[in-house]
Amino acid sequence: MKNLKKPKKMILTAGPSITSLEVKYVSDAVKTGWNRQYRDYTNKFEKAFGEYVGVKYALATSGGTGALWLSLAAAGVGPGDEVILPEITYFACSDVIVHRGATPVFVDILPDTWCIDPDDMARKITKKTKAIMPVYLYGNLPEMDEIMRIAKKHALFVVEDACPAVGSYYKGKHAGSFGDCGAFSFQGAKIMVTGFGGMFVTNNKKLFERVSYLNAHAEDPHRKFWQTGVGYTFELPNVTAALGLAQLERIDELVKKKRQIFDWYNAHLSKIDGISINTERKKTKSNKWMTSFILNKKFKFTRDKLIAELKKYNIDSRPFFYPISSFPMYKNAHSPIAYHTGLNGINLPSGYECTKKEIDYICAVIKYLLS
Ligand SMILES: *Cc1c(COP(=O)(O)O)cnc(C)c1O
Repeated sequence: MKNLKKPKKMILTAGPSITSLEVKYVSDAVKTGWNRQYRDYTNKFEKAFGEYVGVKYALATSGGTGALWLSLAAAGVGPGDEVILPEITYFACSDVIVHRGATPVFVDILPDTWCIDPDDMARKITKKTKAIMPVYLYGNLPEMDEIMRIAKKHALFVVEDACPAVGSYYKGKHAGSFGDCGAFSFQGAKIMVTGFGGMFVTNNKKLFERVSYLNAHAEDPHRKFWQTGVGYTFELPNVTAALGLAQLERIDELVKKKRQIFDWYNAHLSKIDGISINTERKKTKSNKWMTSFILNKKFKFTRDKLIAELKKYNIDSRPFFYPISSFPMYKNAHSPIAYHTGLNGINLPSGYECTKKEIDYICAVIKYLLS
C-alpha cells in the first residue's frame, strides 16, 4: 500500500459536469427571462425532456419529491389507502405517501437489480391498495412488464420514481414512460443537475391537466385569484430550467461517462470474491448513475467500518439507503434482501469528473482493505 499516492483532496461520491453551454443558457435566462419571456426556458426544457423520455406531457417541478407529491395528489391517494413501494429507496418516497394520509406498504427488492420484487409486491396487494411506486434505484431497472401486468390486473395507479434514471431504458423504452406517470430529479448529485429540480411526466392528458391545475395553486384557469381547490406550487424557475436544458442537450455524453466509470470499477471489483456490484438484466440499459457494491460475506471490516477506513485514504463513499421500515416511525417489515442490501451496500465515487487514475487508486485501496 505504501506505493499508492493518497490524493490531496477527498474524492467525492458525486458531482456534475458544467460547461460553457450551461453558462451561456443561464446567462441568457437571467438577461431575457422576464415579462413575456418569463417561462421560455421552462417551456423549452419541458418539451425537450418529454421528447427525450418519449411521453406526451412534462411539467418541470422544484424537485423529484414535488413531482411524486403531485402524482399522488392527482391520483386522489388519501386516508385509508395503501401505497406499495420498495423497502430500499430514498425516504422522500414514504414521506409523500404519509403526507397524503395514506399508509406506505414496504416490499422486498430483487438481489441483482436492487429494485422492487414483483412477486412480493403481488403478495402485499390488499383491498386498500391504491397505487404502487416502483423505484429505479441508482438508475437500475425494475421489472416493468411484470409490474404493469400486476397493476393492470388489480387496477392500481402506477407512479414511477424514476428520479435517478435519466438515460435508463427497459426494453428500449425510457424509464418513467410505463406507468400512469413518472418523476425525475435533477438534484445536484444526480446524472443531470439543476441544483434542485425535477420533472413530472405522463401520457395521460387528464392527469397532466389535473397536476398542472394543482401545481398552480388550484386556481380557476378562467378567473384570476379565484381558487376552486386546495393547491400547491412546486415550480421550477426559468433560470434553473435553462441549466436543465443545457444538461439535457449533453445527456448522451453524461451517460457515457457514468457507464465508463462503472466499467473502470468493474474491471477490478468483479474479481473480488464475496461482493456483488450493479448488474444489468437482459434488454435493460442502466445509466449507471452510481457504481455500488454489496458485501455478501464477512470481511475484516463491516460496511460502516469500511466507509470510515476509506475516508482515511481520502475516498468518500456513502451507505446504501437504509430499509425505510427500520426508521422509528414505521413498523419493521423485515424484508430479508432489502435488509441485507441496505445494511451492507456502499456507493462509490461516481461523479462526472472521476478519472481512471482515481478509480484504479480507489480499487487498489478496496482490494487491500478487503483482503
Ligand atoms: C434523488 C431521489 C429522489 C428525490 O429527488 P429530489 O429531487 O431530491 O426531491 C427520490 N427518489 C429517489 C430514488 C432518488 O434517488
